Amino acid sequence: MEPMFIRTREQQAILDTVRRFVEHQVLPRAAALDARQDPAECYSWEIVERAHEVGLRTMTLGREYGGLGTDSLTTAMVIEELGRGDLGVSVIFAQTLKIAQIMQKALNEEQRGRVLPAFARDPRGMLAIGITEPDHASDYLLPHPTPFSTRGVKTAGGWIVNGMKHFISNGNRASHYLVFVQTEKDRPLARGSTCFLLERDRPGFTIGLVHDKMGERLANNAELVFQDCVIPDANVVGAVGHGFDVLAEFFPQSNAYAGASVLGVAVAAYEKAVQWARVRVQGGRPLIEHDGVRAQLAEMRMLIDASRSYIHRACWLADHQEHGWDRTLGALPKVMASQAAWKVATWCLEIHGGHGYMREAGVEKLVRDAAAFLHSDGANRTLFLKAANFMFAE
Ligand SMILES: Cc1cc2nc3c(=O)[nH]c(=O)nc-3n(C[C@H](O)[C@H](O)[C@H](O)COP(=O)(O)OP(=O)(O)OC[C@H]3O[C@@H](n4cnc5c(N)ncnc54)[C@H](O)[C@@H]3O)c2cc1C
Repeated sequence: MEPMFIRTREQQAILDTVRRFVEHQVLPRAAALDARQDPAECYSWEIVERAHEVGLRTMTLGREYGGLGTDSLTTAMVIEELGRGDLGVSVIFAQTLKIAQIMQKALNEEQRGRVLPAFARDPRGMLAIGITEPDHASDYLLPHPTPFSTRGVKTAGGWIVNGMKHFISNGNRASHYLVFVQTEKDRPLARGSTCFLLERDRPGFTIGLVHDKMGERLANNAELVFQDCVIPDANVVGAVGHGFDVLAEFFPQSNAYAGASVLGVAVAAYEKAVQWARVRVQGGRPLIEHDGVRAQLAEMRMLIDASRSYIHRACWLADHQEHGWDRTLGALPKVMASQAAWKVATWCLEIHGGHGYMREAGVEKLVRDAAAFLHSDGANRTLFLKAANFMFAE
């Protein structure tokens, strides 16, 4: 077994490919896409198709589907590297890579045969997960005992679904979704909801608003709208009424992946800060020779290194739970990385002085991006509460 803090040759080869992909496909496009007004126009299918060509889009799929079967630690390294290029690009692939991992474990054999080869072949195949609703957000993370508003009523051979999800990453771009629906209306959502597999073209399912986000703009987030949408029994994932078991059982690394995405932003901000501190001369010498700035750069480095260690530990233990996985690792690494990224991005702004405030410096994009994960994948305070509930379950 390789120690998790040493990169294997295979990991290095994958990361070299991802780094080249970021340099050639992401960085040259990111600023212009980010600047577009219409949020839907910030999305790039070219980036997705180029990612497909180098095997990035499907790398968590097993080799039987043409993937690389990457483990969670390697996947987190890839997600961070993508985030260093652009947060939105990191998020669209983090979601897809993560949900592909879940689908391989949570779908039954018939569902896997129906979905995974088609997803693997399609150069634009992307995946999404729909849980959050306008009135049910932090509640499902804690979870608070109110039912989801998106309801399914039993009919012959399936469920008639009505309702709406919002904020869903890849919501308007995915080919397949996992969607959480209240199937037992008088039970709390943690015990009365079911996870369904949903295809993009299912009648009764449409895309609503594409949200106009302050940052992370190269990813699209959208509403999912259900109007008498009939989802067949054959699309139930796991057991009816046990949707949350799918989340608990097959999602352990989700929080750490979210942390890895935003950690990439922190790395980009740190690198930019160092670069600027070397060339900007005030007080007769480069900023990097002033003690206050040097100390701040060291603190940024510490925040990044510590967050990365936490993320890597959570990912490795998610795949080797017998070595001491504990459930706080499914809540806290993202909180730490997002707090670190927020500090690092705003300090990068500070080190740039007025130049950082000017769009052309590229710092303000990093600040907008860094803000995304204070709330995404669970608001940080909610995740502290979730961890505390695990710690003090009595
Ligand atoms: C960019 C982005 C991408 C997203 N992608 C997805 C996705 O792909 N799929 C999906 O299902 N969802 C997604 N979400 C939703 C995300 O998980 C939710 O935004 C998150 O769970 C918080 O919900 P909320 O924003 O409605 O905040 P609220 O739940 O309204 O919380 C507001 C504030 O109140 C606090 N609070 C709430 N309850 C309590 C309590 N009991 N005690 C103390 N404080 C409390 C929170 O910590 C927070 O500070 C995404 C969100 C964003 C911003």
